[in-house]
Amino acid sequence: MRTLEADVAVVAAGLSGMAAIVQAAEHGLSVVALEKTSTTGGAANMGMGPFAVGTKYQRMQAYDLTPGEAFRQHMNFVHWNADARLVRDYYFKSADTIEWLESMGVEFFPPALTYPVPERMRAYATSFPTGHCVKPEGGGPPGPRCAATMIKRMTERADELGAKILLNTPAKKIIMEDGQAKGVLAVDSQGEEVEVRAKVVVICTGGAGDNPDMIREHIGYEWGKNLFSFRIPGVQGDGMKMAWEAGADATPLTMELMYQCPDNMSVFSLDGAFRAPDLWVNLDGERFFEESTCINSTFTGNAIKRQPGGVGISILDSAQVRRYRRDGPAFVDHVHGFECFSNFDADVQAAMDRGYEYVCKADSLEELADKMGIDKERFLATVEEYNEMCENHWDDYFEKEPRYLFPVAKAPFYALKFFIGAYGTLGGIRINHRTQVLDKEGRVIPGLYAAGTDTCAIYGDTYPFILGGNTMGYCLNTGRIAADTIADLLG
Ligand SMILES: Cc1cc2nc3c(=O)[nH]c(=O)nc-3n(C[C@H](O)[C@H](O)[C@H](O)COP(=O)(O)OP(=O)(O)OC[C@H]3O[C@@H](n4cnc5c(N)ncnc54)[C@H](O)[C@@H]3O)c2cc1C
Repeated sequence: MRTLEADVAVVAAGLSGMAAIVQAAEHGLSVVALEKTSTTGGAANMGMGPFAVGTKYQRMQAYDLTPGEAFRQHMNFVHWNADARLVRDYYFKSADTIEWLESMGVEFFPPALTYPVPERMRAYATSFPTGHCVKPEGGGPPGPRCAATMIKRMTERADELGAKILLNTPAKKIIMEDGQAKGVLAVDSQGEEVEVRAKVVVICTGGAGDNPDMIREHIGYEWGKNLFSFRIPGVQGDGMKMAWEAGADATPLTMELMYQCPDNMSVFSLDGAFRAPDLWVNLDGERFFEESTCINSTFTGNAIKRQPGGVGISILDSAQVRRYRRDGPAFVDHVHGFECFSNFDADVQAAMDRGYEYVCKADSLEELADKMGIDKERFLATVEEYNEMCENHWDDYFEKEPRYLFPVAKAPFYALKFFIGAYGTLGGIRINHRTQVLDKEGRVIPGLYAAGTDTCAIYGDTYPFILGGNTMGYCLNTGRIAADTIADLLG
């Protein structure tokens, strides 16, 4: 067994872990971090960028949302069902965190310019421009994976400060002595045990998004059946299990729900194209929500999860496809972009040719119902009713805006099945606003800290996309808060 010593042992070098590592090292503390995989950054390598409020970018664009106002928006959104002190500290620190990242060489797109579309077409019409998308190394537009550059800069900074990050070295257990965290046991890639003796331990293992058993047991979804969430390899609930074993109280495990089609990265354009405000039905052939809500992925996830089989089906006729190809999609979301109809027919054909069962093209509505497994009789009645409403320019059911009412009439018809998806899990370890882990009686467990999604219980029942970039924002800021608290208490 190898033994190392440090002021701070950080379990995992994902986003919150990197924030804790760099900030602790900047406070002059020695740091050893244990990372399960061969790389730093975890899920953050897939994303665009973090939430912040009160930044110079927002001020430059004359956007004057204050941290206090954003805090109140957040708390009202979650009905004050979250630790207000923690949310407050995170929001008020967030602008400073952007500058802190810039000091390492991270650059950002100004938030409003990231989404240069009219208000109605913005990702979420009622949202605030708080997501700060990272400028990717080597140029390119804002989009998925831009945040990998931020992780790269943070890792370089950690190296420069002399923090040790042991890759391929999963942590297995928190060393507890007399009720106090004293270090971590891990195993390296050669199978050798590694003991890190430390004054404090920070757990940052990113939740249990890659652990279908824990998701089933704690949340009730069946991965691959009614849930098609991202699974970031290695993110399997290790941190929360270690914390619970060390006496931590558990918060309910939830998911950062949204919606997507299965294996969505392989049909990325179609996943974007079918996010259209036309006709959506469930497997019973009935409309189930006001379809222009589909631009809000978390609200739509909530609506879809309530349907039989957890399925929502978006339907387009040829006239609409032609219109969208000519004019661009009705909505432009910040992930899928404007070009998703450019190769629509070829994309549908390619997906069908390789046996992707969730999309179809059909010459009749009857054939579409058969192919998608929709109750045919009810579906045909729904389409008839819907087309009548389109003719009358009035949606009797949900009062969808007339500008989105186009009949489903011209063959061929297209459909795509959507299910709930998620970025990962949220919550698991109870902390206070200083990120100290609490036991079942609400007492601080000495020496034990946790940050990032392992602890994120501030979203109530729905991820607040109205304040975009929120999970990365939470992870970065709680990682930093952990390091600040530790520096403060260690003196
Ligand atoms: C496709 C995608 C896009 C996203 N886009 C955005 C976005 O634009 N904005 C936003 O705010 N959020 C976004 N998110 C969410 C955000 O990336 C995550 O919430 C965030 O990265 C979580 O940070 P974390 O530190 O909690 O976990 P992670 O960053 O996932 O890091 C967890 C780390 O723990 C390690 N680990 C696990 N177990 C152990 C162990 N036993 N020992 C040692 N290490 C261990 C893992 O290997 C991993 O490196 C996105 C997520 C996905 C999947």
